[in-house]
Amino acid sequence: MFEPTLPDPDTMYRALVDKDPSFEGIFFAAVTTTGIFCRPTCTARKPRRENVMFFPTTREALLAGYRPCRVCHPMALPGALPEAVKGLLAEIEADPGLRLADTDLRDRGIDPAGLRRLFKRTHGMTFQGYLRARRVGEAFGQIRHGESATDAAFDHGWESLSGFGDAFRKILGASPTRASSPVTTVTRIETPLGPMLAGASDAGIALLEFADRRMLETQITRLRRLLGTPLVPGSSPFFERLADELRRYFAGDLHRFEVPLDLRGTPFQTRVWTVLLTIPYGHTRSYAEQAKAAGDPSAIRAVARANGDNRIAIIVPCHRVVGSDGSLTGYGGGLWRKRWLLDHERHHLGS
Ligand SMILES: [Zn+2]
Repeated sequence: MFEPTLPDPDTMYRALVDKDPSFEGIFFAAVTTTGIFCRPTCTARKPRRENVMFFPTTREALLAGYRPCRVCHPMALPGALPEAVKGLLAEIEADPGLRLADTDLRDRGIDPAGLRRLFKRTHGMTFQGYLRARRVGEAFGQIRHGESATDAAFDHGWESLSGFGDAFRKILGASPTRASSPVTTVTRIETPLGPMLAGASDAGIALLEFADRRMLETQITRLRRLLGTPLVPGSSPFFERLADELRRYFAGDLHRFEVPLDLRGTPFQTRVWTVLLTIPYGHTRSYAEQAKAAGDPSAIRAVARANGDNRIAIIVPCHRVVGSDGSLTGYGGGLWRKRWLLDHERHHLGS
């Protein structure tokens, strides 16, 4: 799941230049200079070799912050697609900040459950997951290169800045052009479990979440309110340190993070998160033990909720809290990641 097999890059680049249809569905090509991803057969001008990144699925390209190409429509599936769904995809491309509830879908003559299955089958993500990825991608897509958001929008032929700015403002609370000071900076960090979004105040890391996490936008909005500043793509001295520590963590070499944290929450939440930090690497605790450690043995549910509200994944190790019978229970980043993290830590415990 973490290292899907792709043909070697030279083969893929050759297929891309040749518009080879036999590679349809095998890979998607993302262009780092434009922030757009394509099918192999796209008729648009082909990028230079050094500016291409290959992804096995649309899902991964989206989560890495790329937009679907408006020429080859990688989100439209090969084969027949109901007209209503085609129209819907076009609508989303025109307004990537769009939110569509089940009733909105039914108004368009689309069965929400059917659409969910269709997306799951073809893109490995639900339709709502896709909408979320598009919204977040609009806001964060370009930050990887340290470009300013406005430049990026112009460069990439987005005739209207408004869609870009709206998506950005809705999620981050600032327009891409008018970043007031002080700000919280955000960046994207690649990990073996997928891309993560990190945020830093001037005190330390305040956010670390998987880019496909369901609650991501809510978490960002809460953080923005708590910090009282907009979030703006940019750099922070804490990011380099964070990326380095994460790299060593995933290599199994780092058992204790030392990058400064900025824990923002209610006094109760902050207490629960601080107690989480005392669970040693490779060990687990039950919610009951966690409540006891927080000094309130009867507050098991509240402790579980505060765990779920943790905004700094991996470092504040909410993944180390399990059911009293050892079952994994919930995890914001998905149970498969929780299982992976616990297995990884157990495996490297003695190293
Ligand atoms: Zn294309």
